[in-house]
Amino acid sequence: MTPNREDYLKLILELGGDHNKINNKQIVTGLSVSPASVSEMITKLVKESLLDHVPYQGVQLTEKGLVLASSLIRKHRLWEVFLVQHLGYTWNEVHDEAEVLEHITSSKLANRLANYLNSPANCPHGGMIPAEGALVNEKERKNLTSYPLHAKIRIARVLDERELLDYLVMIHLHLNEEYEIVEIAPYEGPITLKNNKKTVVVSFKAANSIFVDTIPEE
Ligand SMILES: [Zn+2]
Repeated sequence: MTPNREDYLKLILELGGDHNKINNKQIVTGLSVSPASVSEMITKLVKESLLDHVPYQGVQLTEKGLVLASSLIRKHRLWEVFLVQHLGYTWNEVHDEAEVLEHITSSKLANRLANYLNSPANCPHGGMIPAEGALVNEKERKNLTSYPLHAKIRIARVLDERELLDYLVMIHLHLNEEYEIVEIAPYEGPITLKNNKKTVVVSFKAANSIFVDTIPEE
């Protein structure tokens, strides 16, 4: 599927383009498209006032771009919740379906869906679901590689990427689980997490895309 303008806006927001400049290379990687198509699309989106472009730094969403991207992410994440809660999908299966559904969902349908689901605050990957007309404003969290040995953490959010999610299913790591970091291997080696039910070894690469909250000591 060729990504359309909305997919660009959404990816730029997911990469932090609401307050940081995102470069073309990040977009090329994120959408698996050629550098030429990225430049072409960016020119179009700048013309439509959806993006600001700063030469040699990258692009950032304008207010208008942020509103549009937020509404798409709202629809995407509401469908993800529906698929997991009502149709028995797992969190690594929902992305592709939600990707198609978000583009054909009116605001009326999104609102009915939100009501039906009791206005969920988060998607199955821990991303926030904005209210109608509100902007995506993800809570700032550090990733798992930022914490020291013996830190107590809760898995709060993971990036919505198929390969990562397949890996997390394989190692049985789930959202909202609480762990202690019991081993950090040197030289960007794996990080070992443990609680009273299980021990999970997480690769350094995956740990970069897993965002956690710290659990205050009692
Ligand atoms: Zn999600």
